[in-house]
Amino acid sequence: MSTDCIFCKIVQGDIPSKRIYEDDDVIAFHDIHPITKVHFLIVPKQHIESLISCGSQHQALLGKMLLLAPELAKQQGLTGFRTMINTGREGGQEVFHIHMHVFGGGNTLPKT
Ligand code: 5GP
Ligand code: ZN
Repeated sequence: MSTDCIFCKIVQGDIPSKRIYEDDDVIAFHDIHPITKVHFLIVPKQHIESLISCGSQHQALLGKMLLLAPELAKQQGLTGFRTMINTGREGGQEVFHIHMHVFGGGNTLPKT
């Protein structure tokens, strides 16, 4: 837990979020500024800054996050989706608590 981290505060329930999933390791909630019809974030409860600060000890957690994406996407009514993990300032990361974006739902996705 990092006291000045917005996602740690969401994990703790100190900041409200529209949660769609929770277990011992991970939560998922809708992004506050969705850029597609469905846009949610998969976030570990543990405060890890970034994908670049992960090591082999995070392999199971990262695998769990990846496999949750299709499960939760299906629950949100999606048959396809895009995932994104912004990594580091240069990679467009704004919240320094690792998270996976899941996008879908018929809006135009950028062709990248
Ligand atoms: P990043 O650029 O770090 O990958 O993306 C951070 C994402 O977190 C952004 O899409 C932003 O809209 C979302 N976000 C930031 N603060 C909050 C918040 O307080 N609640 C929710 N639900 N999403 C947030
Ligand atoms: Zn955090």
